[in-house]
Amino acid sequence: MAAHGGSFDGVERRGLMFVLSSPSGAGKTTLSRLLIERMPGLNMSVSVTTRPMRPGEVEGRDYYFVDKIRFEEMVKRHDLLEWATVFDNRYGTPRAPVEAALSAGRDVLFDIDWQGTQQLREKARADVVSVFILPPSAADLEKRLHTRAQDSDEVIRARMSRASHEMSHWAEYDYIVINRNVDEAFAEVQSILKAERLKRERRIGLTTFVRELQRQLEP
Ligand code: 5GP
Repeated sequence: MAAHGGSFDGVERRGLMFVLSSPSGAGKTTLSRLLIERMPGLNMSVSVTTRPMRPGEVEGRDYYFVDKIRFEEMVKRHDLLEWATVFDNRYGTPRAPVEAALSAGRDVLFDIDWQGTQQLREKARADVVSVFILPPSAADLEKRLHTRAQDSDEVIRARMSRASHEMSHWAEYDYIVINRNVDEAFAEVQSILKAERLKRERRIGLTTFVRELQRQLEP
C-alpha cells in the first residue's frame, strides 16, 4: 500500500498514514486543519458519511455526504479502505485518493475513529502512525461540545457518554497528546509527524544516498 515517493531533503521516502483519533470535542478537527495548513506534503483524507451535514460544513471539504444506498455500494465495490458505524451513521475512507497521494510520495492525514484505525493498522502496520488526542478534563470536553453549537443537547449527551468508550482504546495508539492548549498540542503533533518522517525504515533512498556520499569521500 505504501508508496515510494517524494522527499524534502533529497532522500526518497515512503509515504505514511498519519491518523488522529479522539472523542469528539477534543479538538482534533482544529489540529487536523492546522497540520494541513502548515505541513507541506500532507493530504487530508476526506471521508464519506451518511450523517446529515452540520451548519458550516462543506461538501468535499469536511465530508462527502452520501445516502445509505450509495455507502453500501461503495462497501460492496471495495471503494473504501476502511469503514465503521459511529452514532448510528456510517463513515468510511475512499481508497483511491489515499492510494494516489501515497504513490505521489505524499503523506495522508486521517481523522477517523478507533475502528477505522484498527483496520488501517491491519492493512499497513508499518505505514500507519497513530495519535490519540485526549481532552484535559470531562468538563472541558463538555464545554467544547456546547461551544461548537452544532449539535442538539440530546446529541451532546450521546457524544459525552460515547467519549468514555472511545477513550478506552487509547492504549492501541502510538502516541497520546493531551489537548490543554491548541498551540502546545499542535506543536506536539507536528513534532511526531516530523520525527516519523525521519525514521530510517521509511527513507528508502538512504542506501543510495549514503553510497553516493561514501563514493565521494573515498580517494
Ligand atoms: P463527526 O460526526 O463528529 O464528524 O465524526 C464522528 C466520528 O467519526 C469521529 O470520531 C471521526 O473521527 C469518525 N470518523 C470520521 N470519518 C471517519 C471514517 O472515514 N472512518 C472512521 N472509521 N471513522 C470516521
